[in-house]
Amino acid sequence: MRYVVIEDEAAIRRFLRASLPPEEAEIFEAENGKDGLRLVAQKNPDIVLLDLGLPDIDGLEVLRRMREWSDKPVIVLSARGREQDKVAALDGGADDYLTKPFSFGELTARVRVALRRSLRTAPPTVPTLETGGLKIDFEARQVFVNGQEIRLTPLEYKVLAFLARHAGKVITHKQLLAEVWGPAYEDSTHTLRVHMGAIRQKLEPEPARPRYIRTETGVGYRFLLEEGV
Ligand code: CA
Repeated sequence: MRYVVIEDEAAIRRFLRASLPPEEAEIFEAENGKDGLRLVAQKNPDIVLLDLGLPDIDGLEVLRRMREWSDKPVIVLSARGREQDKVAALDGGADDYLTKPFSFGELTARVRVALRRSLRTAPPTVPTLETGGLKIDFEARQVFVNGQEIRLTPLEYKVLAFLARHAGKVITHKQLLAEVWGPAYEDSTHTLRVHMGAIRQKLEPEPARPRYIRTETGVGYRFLLEEGV
């Protein structure tokens, strides 16, 4: 596994080096965006960890330039409270984000999901998805909870199916609205919230404490698989 880490904070780079043993991870480090872009081009990494606050080029700009020639999975590292940066990064082609400070467990979970997704060359063709009592039959467009069929409206089904097809990955409000309602509705987050409330009422054993669809505050939603990623 080859990592390129683009991060100006020495403490975070040290944490990553200490967390990822050399026999599992080859880590190439850059302290600024310019060196980072060069490393990604030279080292052909499996995954890129990208800080958004860099001393030379903004991390979002690094991502934009990288996406012109590379589709390598990118996990952005961002400071707490900078939701708008995370949203911009996800909309700009990042695969996921980690909010600093993050734990080793969070890091490996995010990396695992990003890698699994990047190894899939074609869209997933699984006809059904089952996790923790929830079953989605994508062919029949049917949803079951503990064997009981749940009646969703066509829009509710589309929201659920899109999130489930990207299980483990955070989907921004904008991405979800554009996919289900169309590009003209990208900003209709209230509409989305209303539908999500209805979906949870029908799906979740405890709608106030969702187990299938997690709210990523200020960013979007993430469909959770049983393994907890
Ligand atoms: Ca920084």
